[in-house]
This record gives sequence, C-alpha cells and structure tokens, in this order.
Amino acid sequence: FLTFDEHFKHWAGDRPDAVAMEQGDRLTTYAELEVISRRIAAFLESKGVKKGDRIAWIGKNDDLYFQLLLSAGRIGVVMAPIGWRLAPLEMIYILNDTGTKLAVLGEEFVGLADQLKEKCPALEHVLGESEARAAIMATPPADTVVPAGPEDAFLQLYTSGTTGNPKGAVLCQRNMFGLRKASLEAGLPWAEWDKDEAILVCMPCAHIGGTGLGTMAFGAGVRGIIHAEFTAEGALTAIGQGITRFFIVPAALQMLIQHPLAAQTDFSKLKYVMYGAAPIPLELLREACQTIPNAGFMQCYGMTETTGTVVSLVPDDHDLNGSPKMRSAGRANPGVEVRIVDPDGNEVPRGTVGEIETRSANNMLGYWNLPEATAKTLSEDGWVRTGDAAYMDEEGYIYIQDRIKDMIISGGENVYPAQVESAIYGHPDVAEVAVIGVPDPKWGEAVKAVCAPKPGHTIDPASIIEWTRERLAGFKVPKSVDIIDALPRNPSGKILRRNLREPYWDGMD
Ligand code: ATP
Ligand code: MG
Repeated sequence: FLTFDEHFKHWAGDRPDAVAMEQGDRLTTYAELEVISRRIAAFLESKGVKKGDRIAWIGKNDDLYFQLLLSAGRIGVVMAPIGWRLAPLEMIYILNDTGTKLAVLGEEFVGLADQLKEKCPALEHVLGESEARAAIMATPPADTVVPAGPEDAFLQLYTSGTTGNPKGAVLCQRNMFGLRKASLEAGLPWAEWDKDEAILVCMPCAHIGGTGLGTMAFGAGVRGIIHAEFTAEGALTAIGQGITRFFIVPAALQMLIQHPLAAQTDFSKLKYVMYGAAPIPLELLREACQTIPNAGFMQCYGMTETTGTVVSLVPDDHDLNGSPKMRSAGRANPGVEVRIVDPDGNEVPRGTVGEIETRSANNMLGYWNLPEATAKTLSEDGWVRTGDAAYMDEEGYIYIQDRIKDMIISGGENVYPAQVESAIYGHPDVAEVAVIGVPDPKWGEAVKAVCAPKPGHTIDPASIIEWTRERLAGFKVPKSVDIIDALPRNPSGKILRRNLREPYWDGMD
C-alpha cells in the first residue's frame, strides 16, 4: 500500500484489536485509530483546515501527534512538526514559513500560545494537547473521507539546520512507503516485520528519525511504543520489556551503552538496532556490538530530503573481526540509485571522493517556498545532491568522509573532520571531540581539535596531538587543541561545527 487511507482501512479490518500506539498506559488499537482518524478529519474541517493546508505540532513525541499526522495525511493535510528544543523565535520562523492555520502544543508548551498567536498572523487556532484531545473526542467521526493519493504531501519536515537555516522538505505518501515496498519485494530479511513486533520511537518527531520510524510502524501494522524523548534509562527499560527494533543517533547510542543499567538489561528480544543520521566513531560501534551481541546492527544513511534511509549497512556486514566494511555506511537500498560525482556532476571512478547523489521514490517533492534551494538540491532528472563527500568501493559500499562544507583544506590536502574525530575519540581522556579548520597564514586552513574531557579527567593538548600522530597522516594531525566542557549540538544530536568555527573566522569568510 502506498497511502495512509489504505493502511487505515486494512489494519482496522485485518487486526482491529492489535495495539497501534502505546504511550505510557495509553493504548490505541488499530480499530480505534481508524475511528479517531475520521474524528480528526471532521475536527480539521470544522476549523476550516483543507487539503493542502499546513498544521503544526510543537511538543515532544506523543501519541496525539502521530494520530494527527496520520489522520491529516489521510486527507492530504500536511503536518509540520516543530522541534520543542528550538527557541521561540525559531519556532515562529517555521510557523510563519509554513503559513499554518492550526497548531497543537504539547502540554508543557501551552505557555507559548499567546506569543505565537501574536507573532504568526496566519495562525487562527492554537490548542493545548488536552484541549485538542477533548475537542477531537467530542467531534463525531466523518462517515467518509476523501483520501489523499500517493503523490500528495503529508509532511513538511525541517532539516536539522546543521549547516544553515532549516529548510522545509515537503514529503508525500509515496516517499514514505515506496522504499519499504521495494525492500520487501527484494526479500530483505530486515524489511520483514513480524506482526508481534514492538518498535520504540524515541528520537524527536520533528526529525525524520522519529516521525519516519513512527509512520513505518503504522505502515507495518505493528505496535509503536512512543517515548516523549530519549533517555538511556527509558530506552533500556523498554528493551528489557521486549521491544524488537529502534532507531537512534550515535550520541544517544553512546549514552545507552554507557548507562549503568545497560549491564543488567536483557537485550535478547531486540532484533535490530538501527543507527545513523551522523557519523559513528568505530570505537563506539564496536563497543555497542559487544554490549548488545545478539541484535543485528544496521547503519542508516539518509537525510530529510530523502525521507530518511537510502543507504544502509546491513547486519551481515558488521564483522567484529575488523572487517573494513564496518567503516562504511553501506550500499544503496533496493530501489535506490547512488552515484558519486565531481563538482561538474560527472561520475568519478570507484575509490575517488566526490559528492553523493541519490535518486529514488524517497526523494522529496521540494523545499517549501524555496525554488532556488530546491533547484540546487534536486536536479531536473531527479537526483538529490546530498552535500556529503564519500567514495564508493568496487562492491558499491559507500564510505562517507564528511559534509563537503565541513572539509578542511590544509596545505592543499583535504582533511575530513569526521575521520580525525574518530581517531581522537579513542583517547582515554576524551568524552567528545569536534575537528574544525581555522585560518592559518601558512597552510590556508589549519586543523584544530576541540575536546571535552570525560568526567574527572583532564586533557593534555600535547597528548591529543601525539595520539593522532600515531594513527593518522601528518597533515590530518591537529596543529592546536582547545578544551571545552561540552560540544554544541543541535536537537538531533549533531555537532554544530559552524558554531565552533565562527569565532575564528569572524569577518574572514
Ligand atoms: P541542514 O541540511 O539543515 O544543514 P542536516 O543536513 O543535518 O541539516 P538532516 O536532513 O537531519 O539535516 O541530516 C542529513 C545529514 O546527516 C546528511 O546529509 C549527512 O551529512 C548526515 N548523515 C545522515 N546519516 C548519516 C550516516 N549514517 N553517517 C554519516 N552522516 C550521516
Ligand atoms: Mg542537510
């Protein structure tokens, strides 16, 4: 199936009593969900919200959010979830960008209502979560709905804003369901989700890792267990209680395996650990594979613009005996084309670093209201330019170096921060590290490492330089080391290297 409407009807008929969503002690079955979706359709209509209009959610992960998302999508109303960690001004920027008429605020955020209404002229209705729940349950379900089609937008998801202002990627129903269908048709074992599976949704719903996984759980007709936000303790408890899959970013994976509770957790029900969205240090991946030996580890590479994962490294390739494949992001998923190109757009030979381009049913429709940015990212013949640098080996495995924007050019050599960070990460005193380029009269740019110490440790800059020299080519070794308490990260857990770079480049670029 490629639409929400088909899924709603199918699961309500096929497995009415199966739990679709679980949040704490709130359970919603597939039969209930289908009725709620018609209530929401009638509710949205009563508020003057029509097909193609935007609605917004500002809050943590919530079953109400997923009910609104799926029900709105069923009738072609587009949900724009907004990260709750954003500053009010950033929320206002996104609300105005979407032109949303109706916003629902998670209970902890209802205090923002007046400010948002004042600053967002198009916003007519702002409801708190419990107010919205009550209003929806008081609305009789529409008898019938006019279902949206596979090409209709349902989600406007803002990119993480790692490299600049977030952009609203508009995604349609085919984007969401097309590739899973291809993976199933290709007979891939990890694409097959048993009906009794339980999926933990703990990454933020304002990003594809949260919303995408929650929507896939619905697509597969399984139980989605929704956590308001990620905590290592919460995730470990859910694992002990028998969740079968989850997706997390490397920073969260690190918290999870280093949590004291990890040693007592029963991981035996866990089938797959999906991780990605940012580079993973090899050391961390090895540690995680050892801590959770029975689960398959699956690396996911993708972006908001590709509705999440398009390249993945499947469990068989995770070989603890030092397989070089472990450094790879994997191969193109079934139905996905990937190529590596030079700055002129010509494909480069295998082993040569260039920009990753990808083409598949996952590619977004475009950025909302940004025709120039859309034209830059989405080529006329359907390729997404990812802005990521990588090479591909003879077998089609992709090795991501870093973002092209973050590449450091020092003395004519290209240095990819992620590789240097991965080497420094193993240093016994280092909790976190980011590598940036700073202006240098001799080298153009010089490599600088910014490190945060582990609790109770101090970092000697000279030992970082020595450590890296033993592991990497001379031109990749930091010329200087800064020590700070913690690295700046955006809400999706990605290191904001641009914030670290700023003071050094002020007025220079
Ligand atoms: P913005 O586009 O606003 O700067 P962003 O690119 O961080 O933000 P996302 O769409 O959330 O926003 O992230 C996609 C990017 O994340 C990719 O382009 C890539 O740089 C990085 N990424 C995703 N998966 C992986 C992975 N498995 N390994 C390394 N990097 C990854
Ligand atoms: Mg991006």
